[in-house]
Amino acid sequence: MDCIFCKIVAGEIPSTTVYEDELVYAFRDINPMAPTHILVIPKEHLGSVNDITPYNSAVVAHIFEVIPQIAAAENLTGGYRVVSNCGQDAGQTVHHLHFHILGGKELSLQMA
Ligand code: 5GP
Ligand code: ZN
Repeated sequence: MDCIFCKIVAGEIPSTTVYEDELVYAFRDINPMAPTHILVIPKEHLGSVNDITPYNSAVVAHIFEVIPQIAAAENLTGGYRVVSNCGQDAGQTVHHLHFHILGGKELSLQMA
């Protein structure tokens, strides 16, 4: 499958690792939109939030256990935002489920 995030997980495309375990990989966004901009992804390929089911949602729960650990390690003491763009209207450009962690500044409240 021609998925850039699967290639990042496989080490075929270089990335800056922030966190890794058997289920999850986190790395720095190549085009940061905030001083801290990290992507957290399941190692297993899921296309988007639309592909989360009772059979695979444990990895999503695990991602949300890991996110606060990453935020603490990154010293995001003032808070941070977690975003997942799903589909065309949201501007999803990479079709491998990912959660953006954005922080390190006071973020705009603009949501749409
Ligand atoms: P989306 O727009 O799908 O929510 O987010 C995709 C994100 O992946 C974008 O923020 C983009 O900068 C990031 N991205 C795309 N290709 C690469 C890459 O090869 N390496 C890294 N580190 N980030 C990437
Ligand atoms: Zn993938």
